[in-house]
Amino acid sequence: MEDYILRATVEGSVRIFVATTKILVEKSRQLHNTTPVATAALGRLLTASAMMGMTLKNDTDIITTTLKGDGDIGGIVATTDSESKVKGYAYNPHIEVSFNKAGKLNVGGAIGAGTLTVTKDLGLKEPMSGQIELISGEIAEDLTYYFATSEQTPSSVALGVLVDVDNSVKQAGGFILQIMPDAKEEVIVHLENLLPTLPSVTTLLEQGNSPEDILKILFGDLDITIHDKIYPEYFCNCSEEKTRKALISVGKKELELILKEDKQANIHCHFCNKDYNFSEDTISELIANL
Ligand code: ZN
Repeated sequence: MEDYILRATVEGSVRIFVATTKILVEKSRQLHNTTPVATAALGRLLTASAMMGMTLKNDTDIITTTLKGDGDIGGIVATTDSESKVKGYAYNPHIEVSFNKAGKLNVGGAIGAGTLTVTKDLGLKEPMSGQIELISGEIAEDLTYYFATSEQTPSSVALGVLVDVDNSVKQAGGFILQIMPDAKEEVIVHLENLLPTLPSVTTLLEQGNSPEDILKILFGDLDITIHDKIYPEYFCNCSEEKTRKALISVGKKELELILKEDKQANIHCHFCNKDYNFSEDTISELIANL
């Protein structure tokens, strides 16, 4: 199944995004060579980011979500644009694999205690930012709490990454469900009864359910309207030119210091692990042009 996300509303009471993201999460795993716990942590965050990207209006808008904690992984970051082109990285992608009491990959333990920060750059003077203390570090629960407190939106977030025995990504996906202000009581009661009994998203995907099927499983005979279907992907927009601009932006003095001490500059892109190397001659030329 190709990666895609549906945006739907139900009875004018619920807004929901449902995603299947196996391909982009597997691409992230290959780029960063993550061990399974890091694959799951970063994969869940990339999946959430891709869905959050669908709330953006302009092509230059960006949402960056960061979890920082005292666990072995240190932190994870993901960004998305309005087309759900996502990218991200883990501070420590090669952490040891551990399992929690339920026998699942211990993402919460790997993240530890810390904070979740969502920054929205909407082309205004200042980016908007909201932060919460982590609830469990399991990411879905933390985002649910973030939406409730920072955005005053009662939500239910489910995220899952199933890692195969060969460490590749077998399934990945999730949903973000948000209760609208004038929601019908019957819809809320329906969800309150259903959500605690719902199998995990990866179980549903593993059983062969598409995002359309998951909508049906969630809402049954209620009136579901699908508004949008988009195809998210893992995409890094770094380039030689952007990297050169970043290098120039450190200023003439700093460049002269680099030239004197290192005779070259190496700039690493954390999002795709590409290295950009600038030779002595190139740096001299950059300085001459300043
Ligand atoms: Zn890059």
